[in-house]
Amino acid sequence: MKTPILVDCDGVLSDLIGSVLMLARERAGIYKTEADIVHYDYGKALEWPRWWVEVENAVRDREFVYRMHPYPGSFKALRELEAKVGRENVFVCTKAWKGLPEWMAQRSAWLQDFAGVPTERQIFCSDKALIPGLLIDDDPENMKGRDFHSAYCVERPWNVGAPFTRGTFEALVASLQDRGEL
Ligand SMILES: [Mg+2]
Repeated sequence: MKTPILVDCDGVLSDLIGSVLMLARERAGIYKTEADIVHYDYGKALEWPRWWVEVENAVRDREFVYRMHPYPGSFKALRELEAKVGRENVFVCTKAWKGLPEWMAQRSAWLQDFAGVPTERQIFCSDKALIPGLLIDDDPENMKGRDFHSAYCVERPWNVGAPFTRGTFEALVASLQDRGEL
C-alpha cells in the first residue's frame, strides 16, 4: 500500500486568515496583515477575543467558508501532487468546526467545486493523529506524535520554529519523487 498523503485545507489550500482579517476590518475596525498573525490563536494575535463569534455568524449568514479564497498556486500544487503519487492517494484532511455543521457543509462543497477534491477524498477529523500518512499542515499541534517522515509544516507566520520540516507546499510537491517512489 502506498503512503496516503493528507493535505490540510485551512492555512494550506484555503486562505482562512485572509477571510478572518477581512472580517476583523469590517466588524471590529482591526487592521492587521497575515504577518501580524504570529500565534495560532487568532484571537490573541488579532487582540480580538470575539473573532470566533463573528466567524460563526458569517458562516451562517454569508457562506464565509464557501467564499474563501485559495492560496495562489495551491490548487496547481495539489494537481501536481496527484499526478506524482496518484489521485487515489491524496486526501484533504481537515477539522470540522465544533457545533457548526454549516462549516463542514460549505468546506465540503468548496473542496468539490473549487479544489476539485470529491467527497470520497475528503476526511473530516478532530484528531489527525488517528490518520496514518504524510500530513501536510500549517498547525504543528496537528502533527504531534508523527515522525520526521510523516509530517511537513507549510510555513506561515504562526508556525515559525515548528519542530518539523518546514517550507512551502509547492516546494514539498517539487521534492517528492514521481509515482511509485513513495
Ligand atoms: Mg490548517
